Amino acid sequence: MASESEDAARVYLTVLCWIGLAIAALDAFVQPLPAGLLRAVLGLSYIAGGLPAARSALTELWQDRRLDIDLLMVVAALAAAAVGATLEGAVLLALFSLSQTLEHRAMGKARQAVEALMQLRPETALREGPEGVEEVPVADLQPGDHVMLRPGARVPVDGRVVDGAGHLDESTVTGEAEPVRKSAGATVHEATVNLDGILTVEVTRSLATSTVAQMIRLVTEAQAMKSPSERFSDWFGQRYTVAVLAGSGLAFVGFWMAGYLPGDALYRAATVLVAASPCAVVISVPAAILSALSAAARGGVLFKGGGALEGLAEVSTFAFDKTGTLTTGQAEVTAIRALEGSEAEFLALAAGLEAQSEHPIAGALRREVAERGIAPAPVYEVQSHPSEGITGHDDQGPLWAGNQRMLARMGAMLPDGLADIAERLETVILVGRGSRVIGALAVADTPRETAIAAVAALREGGGTRIQMMTGDRAEVAERIAARLGLRPDEVHAGLLPADKVLLIDAGARRGKVAFVGDGVNDAAALARADVGVAMGVAGSEVALQAADVALMADDLRKLAAARKLARRTVRVIRQNLTIAIGAMAVLVTGSLFFELPLPLAVVGHEGGTVLVVLNGLRLLADPIRTR
Ligand code: ADP
Ligand code: MG
Repeated sequence: MASESEDAARVYLTVLCWIGLAIAALDAFVQPLPAGLLRAVLGLSYIAGGLPAARSALTELWQDRRLDIDLLMVVAALAAAAVGATLEGAVLLALFSLSQTLEHRAMGKARQAVEALMQLRPETALREGPEGVEEVPVADLQPGDHVMLRPGARVPVDGRVVDGAGHLDESTVTGEAEPVRKSAGATVHEATVNLDGILTVEVTRSLATSTVAQMIRLVTEAQAMKSPSERFSDWFGQRYTVAVLAGSGLAFVGFWMAGYLPGDALYRAATVLVAASPCAVVISVPAAILSALSAAARGGVLFKGGGALEGLAEVSTFAFDKTGTLTTGQAEVTAIRALEGSEAEFLALAAGLEAQSEHPIAGALRREVAERGIAPAPVYEVQSHPSEGITGHDDQGPLWAGNQRMLARMGAMLPDGLADIAERLETVILVGRGSRVIGALAVADTPRETAIAAVAALREGGGTRIQMMTGDRAEVAERIAARLGLRPDEVHAGLLPADKVLLIDAGARRGKVAFVGDGVNDAAALARADVGVAMGVAGSEVALQAADVALMADDLRKLAAARKLARRTVRVIRQNLTIAIGAMAVLVTGSLFFELPLPLAVVGHEGGTVLVVLNGLRLLADPIRTR
C-alpha cells in the first residue's frame, strides 16, 4: 500500500515530468531549443515520469515474478525513444504518470471514508474518581470506570448510561441522522456526539474492542479482500500483460515483413503495446468496489468485502427472522396468569430464569418486573434452548419457561386454567416446575415501522421473494406478517434454528438467499445463507462476526438501500468493463490497421483509465441515508 510520502513523491515527479515535456514541446512547436537543453528536459521527463512505474514493475518482477502493467508503459516509452520519437515517449510517460497520480488519489479517497472515524475519537475523557472529576487520556480508561459527558462532547468509549439523559447524534456509527434519546441503561458508542444532556457513562469496553475499532478493522479487511470480479481482473491483467508483450513483438515482426522500415515497425509495435494495455480493465472493478464499500460504511452498513457486495446484488430471496428483526424487540408483557402462589412470586421466578437471556422476550419480562419493583428470584444453572425456551434450577428443583415445544420436552400438559391465554394471538410463554405448569405470560411485540417500508422497498421491481422465519406459533407470526405486508404463504413458523438452515438450503435451489437476523440464536442461519445480514450490531460482536453484511442501526430500510447500492455497483462494474474493453478494441484496431499515432493511442488509453476510475467514484456519492 502506498504511503503518504510515496503519494507526495508521485505528485512531484508528475509535475517535473510535465515541466520537462512542456519545455520540449516549445522546441517542437515554437522555436528550436539548443540540442543539449532539449536532451536534458526530455531526459528529465523520462526519468520523472518513468521512475515510479519502472520501480513498481521491477519490484513486481523481482519479488513476485509477476509482470506488471507498468512495465508495458516503460517498454513502450523506451521503444519510442529508440526510434527517435522521444517527444511522443515523453507524452506517454507524462499522461501515464498523471493518470496514475489521479488514480491513487481517487482510490485513497475511497479508502479514507472510514479512517476518518478514527480521527473522531477524543483524546481525553472526564473520569469520575473519589476526588471528583479528572481529565485522563482515553487510553487509561478501564471497563467499570465512570466518565462524565458534557453537552457537545464526543463519547470517548463504548459504555452504558448510568445517570442522566440526553440526545446523541450517532450518525458516525449508525449513519442515522436523527438524534437518539438516551437515558439510564442505554448503550452509547465511541465517537458519537452528546448533543444536549449531562450523562454519566460506565465504560463497558476497552478502546481496542470498541464498536468503532471493530468497524475500522472490518472495513479495512473488507477493502483488502478481493471480490470474484476483482480476482478475475487481476488474473486477466496478469495473463494479458504477457500476451500483450508477446503480441507486440509479433506485431513488430509483422509490420517489418509487411514492408515497414525496422524503426517504423518498432514505433507501430509500441503503439500496439500502449493501445492493448489493460490498465483500465484492471482498475475497473476495484474503483467501483472501494467507492461502494466506503459509501456504505458512511451510511452505517458494513460489507465484509466486495464479495458480499456482489452477493447482495444477486440475492433473490430475503429471509427474515421475526422476533427482534421484523419486530421491535421491545416486547411488552400483556397478560400474566399465575396458577400457584401470588403473581409477584410467579413473576420473580420467571424473571430469575430470564435474568441473563438475550432474547427480546426475556427483556420484556425484566422490564415488567423492574416496573413493579419485584426482585428476580435466584435461579442457577440456567441454560437456553434456542427457539424453545430456557431451563434452570432453584432450591426446590428444576424450572423452565418456553413454548409448546418446551412443554412437550418437559412432559408437561397444558392445564385447563391456561387454555384462554394460550389461545391469544400473542407470543405465549409457559412457565413450569418439573412436569407441572405454574403459570403463563403473554408477550406482544410490534412490527417495526422501518420493516414495513423495507419489505415494500425490497419488493419494488418484482422478482424478490420474502420469507419470515420464526420459532413462534403460526397464528402469531401470520398476524404480524399481515401488518408487514407479507402473505401467509411467506410465513414459516414453529421453526428450530436448524429448520431455518434447512429452509435456507431449500431456498438456495432457486437463487441466492440472504438471511436477515439480529444475531440472537440465528448465527447458524446467518452463516449458512449466501449473504448473512445482521442488524443493530453496534455493540454485538457475535452478530458482527457471523454476518457478511452488518447494519449498524436497527433500521431495515438500510438493507433495501444497501441492495440498491450493491446493484448499482454491479452495473458500474459492467459499464467500466465495457468502456475499458471497448476502448481497447478500438485502439488496438487503430494501431494495427490504421497507423494510429502513438500520442493518440496514449490519450485514448489514459483517458479510458481515468474515465473508469471517475465512473467508479460516482458510487461514493451514494451514501445509504434513510432520508
Ligand atoms: P424468532 O425465530 O421469531 O426470532 P425464536 O426462535 O428466538 O423466535 O423463539 C421462538 C420461540 O421460542 C419464542 O416465541 C418463545 O416461545 C420461545 N423462546 C425462545 N427463547 C425464549 C426464552 N428465553 N424464554 C422463553 N421462551 C423462549
Ligand atoms: Mg430472533
